[in-house]
Amino acid sequence: MTPKIERFLAEKAPGTPCLVVDLDVVAANYEKLARALPTARIYYAVKANPGAPVLKTLVGLGSAFDAASFEEIQICLDAGTKPSDISYGNTVKKARDIARAHQEGVSLFAFDSEGELDKLAAHAPGAKVYCRILVGNEGADWPLSHKFGCSLDMARDLLVDARNRGLDAQGVSFHVGSQQTDPQQWDLAIGRTAMVFSDLREAGVELKMLNIGGGLPARYRDDRLPEIDTYAEVILNSVRRHFGNTLPDLIMEPGRSVVAEAGVIHTEVVLVSKKSHDAAAPRWVYFDVGKFGGLAETQGEAIRYPLRTRHDGGAEGPVIIAGPTCDGADILYEKAGYTLPLALQTGDSVDLIAAGAYTAPYASQRFNGFLPMEEHYI
Ligand SMILES: *Cc1c(COP(=O)(O)O)cnc(C)c1O
Repeated sequence: MTPKIERFLAEKAPGTPCLVVDLDVVAANYEKLARALPTARIYYAVKANPGAPVLKTLVGLGSAFDAASFEEIQICLDAGTKPSDISYGNTVKKARDIARAHQEGVSLFAFDSEGELDKLAAHAPGAKVYCRILVGNEGADWPLSHKFGCSLDMARDLLVDARNRGLDAQGVSFHVGSQQTDPQQWDLAIGRTAMVFSDLREAGVELKMLNIGGGLPARYRDDRLPEIDTYAEVILNSVRRHFGNTLPDLIMEPGRSVVAEAGVIHTEVVLVSKKSHDAAAPRWVYFDVGKFGGLAETQGEAIRYPLRTRHDGGAEGPVIIAGPTCDGADILYEKAGYTLPLALQTGDSVDLIAAGAYTAPYASQRFNGFLPMEEHYI
């Protein structure tokens, strides 16, 4: 909770649920990353928070953007981004959207399969392309699993193919999984990319670009993470060790680490209840925002937001926390050991801290009639 957000909540008393984002924190996070990894160009991952004020703040700081769809490309352009500062990073794109992006002047595209390469060669002739490789996601609290990327030998063949089909084979990308708690995962992945670079050199293709993806963590409830500077040191040392004198152009695609800690979700307690007369039975606390209102990353209790209430400091007891819908899956935390003040009552507000990433855009439109949360960028 920043003083600016605290003041906003006190003075404006906005309706709940709502997301309040402090743009000064977005800017500070961007600048901290840029300082920690000065040789890497930052492509902010738009999907983490596509709010126009966030994009405009980052355009003002010189950021480039990683977009997942033509619609995300459009909002980047609307925010004042140059097409040459946009990477179309989704490896699964419709041919029509590739053509539209190419027409708008976007010239950098990701792929991880022959089928996608066919589309790029046909609809974005001559474009710069990079191949995403499969890497382990161990240590990630929100893994991207094995859905994206291909094996090293396939990446090699596809990049040679790309060159032979008139595309500009730029390099290789990976993503070590979101909210990655282990900096060494980047070292393992960078080692794999170096093998692709040397294979391609033997095949007569000089790759230039290494895209180290996103994955840098935010501070949630469990605060045992290394500092961003530690991640940066591991990454830069790894690039030097694996690439020696011919350092590639570095690209990074941070999402969570730029916006998560800039945002707070302000929610109202709709009900505090018990399900039996047993004194030891936990209280159930129902918020007016849940899994379908934007808290998708509570799936598996993976992302655990710190909570703040006006009763903090008083005696606390165990709680099960749930959302307001009539869906049995709409339980946020049951196993993660949350406690809340015993004084907490129906009608109180609870603030979810570090909730600026992967929240508001996840909200369903009208499930159970609930409207998506309001967004305030201050
Ligand atoms: C989601 C995503 C990111 C951002 O990841 P974070 O863990 O939020 O930093 C970056 N690149 C790609 C390709 C992504 O899909």
